[in-house]
Amino acid sequence: GKKKRRLMVAGNWKMNKSPNEARMFAGFLASSIGNENAVDVVVFPTSLSVAGVADILKDTSIKFGVQNIYPADSGAFTGEISASMLSDLAVEYVLVGHSERRHIFGETCELTGEKIKSVLKHGLTPIFCVGETLEEREAGRMKEVLETQIRKGFSGLGKSDLERIIIAYEPVWAIGTGVVASPEQADEAMKFIRDLIASLYGVDLSESVRILYGGSIKPENFESLISMENIDGGLVGGASLQESFVQLVAIAE
Ligand code: PGA
Repeated sequence: GKKKRRLMVAGNWKMNKSPNEARMFAGFLASSIGNENAVDVVVFPTSLSVAGVADILKDTSIKFGVQNIYPADSGAFTGEISASMLSDLAVEYVLVGHSERRHIFGETCELTGEKIKSVLKHGLTPIFCVGETLEEREAGRMKEVLETQIRKGFSGLGKSDLERIIIAYEPVWAIGTGVVASPEQADEAMKFIRDLIASLYGVDLSESVRILYGGSIKPENFESLISMENIDGGLVGGASLQESFVQLVAIAE
């Protein structure tokens, strides 16, 4: 087939939907998305809503995750949740290093690395987000920024760890702006990431690792993005909050 890797459509709900709204929307997704998907479908509600969403989605093919964890198992970390708490809820995925975490909350590359290790330690799958700002792109620093984020995020990880990681390339200038990267721009950055993985972990791993694109995905632009060689699906913000998410899943199917 055209795609070597299984596609994923992931919805990052960010700080949207109350627990009741989240349950209702999860119910809508469960009734709208078939149970035998050719693609992986994952939603990321707020941590406050994840138990309710888990309850609704437990017997469906739709998976769920949280948007952030703190890399300790328990303790005096006011306001945080740990990866170790998530097994009670059958959570499988954790977003790590989203640009809003990096830029609004000052998360460093070192901290993203600790988070990835904690997620893996608890048997969960990290979706590790990287991406350059507009300023960095315009200064010709895109590759350097991506390389730093990846080397630091993956520091100390071996090949067997990398087999369990999904990467999301999300150019900061495309997130929530309506300015989607062109398929060629996205594919170029993602090929760079794949080649870097090849040099760090070998070609086999670089060919099996899934890399999602994120930033202003909509039903109108998704097909052309996922038709590119290096794009294995999408991490969707705004368009994951409504019925358009069902359309995106249908496009990927
Ligand atoms: P967006 O967000 O689809 O609203 O641009 C993407 C993301 O932040 O994951």
